[in-house]
Amino acid sequence: MPPARTGSPTSAGHILAILRDEGPLTRQQLQDRTGLSRATLVERLDVLQRLKLLRQVGHRASSGGRPAEMLAADDVGRTALVGDIGQRHATIAAVDLRGTVFGQVRRPLPAGHRPAETLSFLLDAGRRLLAEAGRADSLCAFGLSVPGQIDHDTGTTIAPPSMSEWRGVRLRDPFTDALSVPVFLENDANALAFGAYCEMNRPRAALVGVKVGTGIGAGMVISGRVHRGETGCAGEVGHIRIEGSDLRCDCGRRGCVSAIASGQAVIRTLRPTGVRSAEDVLRRVRAGHPEAVRVTREAGRLVGTVLATVVTIVNPRYVRVGGAIGVLPPFLEGLREVVLAGAHTSSLDSLDIGPCTLGVDTTLTGVAGLVADEVLAPETVDAMAAL
Ligand SMILES: [Zn+2]
Repeated sequence: MPPARTGSPTSAGHILAILRDEGPLTRQQLQDRTGLSRATLVERLDVLQRLKLLRQVGHRASSGGRPAEMLAADDVGRTALVGDIGQRHATIAAVDLRGTVFGQVRRPLPAGHRPAETLSFLLDAGRRLLAEAGRADSLCAFGLSVPGQIDHDTGTTIAPPSMSEWRGVRLRDPFTDALSVPVFLENDANALAFGAYCEMNRPRAALVGVKVGTGIGAGMVISGRVHRGETGCAGEVGHIRIEGSDLRCDCGRRGCVSAIASGQAVIRTLRPTGVRSAEDVLRRVRAGHPEAVRVTREAGRLVGTVLATVVTIVNPRYVRVGGAIGVLPPFLEGLREVVLAGAHTSSLDSLDIGPCTLGVDTTLTGVAGLVADEVLAPETVDAMAAL
């Protein structure tokens, strides 16, 4: 019998999707969900077995007969490298498709860091991590989060103005050439939003993720997928204008919320008190320094004015805030206060606003989740099965 047509709701790829979504399941439960005959189901499962995408995870007691085998998607046998480039850091980790981290390296970077050096750091450190974990042979994909927009057709960055060295840099080709695996790129705020969604065990609800680090960005997860928009700039909330502000933003316009409420702006406002870096802000806010707490809360309130509109339009269940500045309690308090006062009343009924719990690692969790969704997508699996 030929493999099921790609896109068929009963193809091997779709059975894997059911197992990822609802598993572990018994053969009988899979039959009930797909309506397939026993013989056809066995053929599909054989395909998944051959591709090393299936694993048995114990038995389920059944009344009278033999205990039934429980089947699950094998998301632990393959390995991915996932990276995150920021304005002042680069991180790389080796993970399985469930997001379990085998090893991770984070390196601080100077402002204006050069693409060639940063990319070769990611590649060298990534190879080392694979070797240390003994998983070089199971590498199946590389995922990378970067600030700014991405041209997904060419695999190049459309970097933010503050990272001009990165404008138009080819990100996909160097890793495809060096590692011979598919490479997936994602905007950092989208990756953060997807990471928050994965941290919560993929709830069936819309989620908005907001990243407030050096800059400000947001991502949306709707029906289990990142909403990128037509040109990949959905969620660029940092460049929404705040009424009454005339400060110049690094995008060239005036009055953007990024210009007055990003990490960069908070550092600038606190400079007369001796603050020089995001770490200084964190230290002072944690120590309860009144001026640092006040400025951070005010930044949260300003981002809250923008987010109130986003919440009214998207009507999410969850808002998760990440980034070095975004997770600070005064920032969150200011943001929450203004969103609750400003968003449409009905959109607040089931709204849950909170910080990303994994801190800086939420972005990597998001990249790992996005890579898993690509590698294990029904279409990808059915294409592998047809080879
Ligand atoms: Zn701007």
